[in-house]
Amino acid sequence: MTTLSGKTALVTGSTSGIGLGIALTLAKAGANLILNGFGDASAVIAEVAQFGGKVGHHPADVSDPAQIAEMIAYAEREFGGVDILVNNAGIQHVAAVEDFPVERWDSIIAINLSSVFHSTRLSLPGMRAKDWGRIVNIASVHGQVGSTGKAAYVAAKHGVIGLTKVVGLETATSNITCNAICPGWVLTPLVQKQIDDRAAKGVDPQQAQHDLLAEKQPSLEFVTPTHLGELVLFLCSEAGSQVRGAAWNIDGGWLAQ
Ligand code: NAD
Repeated sequence: MTTLSGKTALVTGSTSGIGLGIALTLAKAGANLILNGFGDASAVIAEVAQFGGKVGHHPADVSDPAQIAEMIAYAEREFGGVDILVNNAGIQHVAAVEDFPVERWDSIIAINLSSVFHSTRLSLPGMRAKDWGRIVNIASVHGQVGSTGKAAYVAAKHGVIGLTKVVGLETATSNITCNAICPGWVLTPLVQKQIDDRAAKGVDPQQAQHDLLAEKQPSLEFVTPTHLGELVLFLCSEAGSQVRGAAWNIDGGWLAQ
């Protein structure tokens, strides 16, 4: 069993959805956790703290590089640095390219792509000093294929996979690894909104959920935050130490088509 006792994990966007699932899995494996994300974090902190490690929350808006720098400084001050960085925070907006609001494009690129660059460049010196680290970027199947209406998201996630390859190469001779995980549909608030948007057009909600899966995900089942947490845990283990610069899909067969 992988133990992360003595390690500190920072998971961006971990007050809900996938990030929370990953934080819980890493805490269960013994890691100290720095949570990040919007909303009242007290209930989430209590949930993660039940496993006995040290838990903190930093409210950085990761669209702002200065706030990311403050979060990494907090991690160094209060936890002795970041050993495991999970870049998970992300947002979505669906519109055709010609209708895509420019400010939504800018914020998706800032949150889903540039934040990964900033948190990585700021965490790496501490990892290099300890000669151990794990960087896991939550990309998406949309880092490998496109879908209509998701120009900014698809561009950002393809960028994340490119960045992951470069960081994977630049750390290749060290005990630091950098990989991307590419989930298919996971039933989180981000995806529930897309189901609700379909239902708002008059489709039965159950049918809307089935249609969403049937269009892309052959298993017709959602990936879960716990599945993703367990994959992050594997990448943190000794057995995962030679997985470098990978884009690992976990998608119910989406990319096999
Ligand atoms: P979610 O909406 O449930 O959670 C997003 C989290 O990010 C929340 O904690 C939110 O507070 C935080 N967040 C949003 N903007 C932020 C900002 N500017 N600064 C700091 N935190 C911010 O979404 P989710 O579905 O759990 O998505 C998590 C990640 O997984 C995203 O990167 C998303 O692209 C990716 N992903 C999701 C799916 C899916 O089907 N849900 C599939 C593939 C990839």
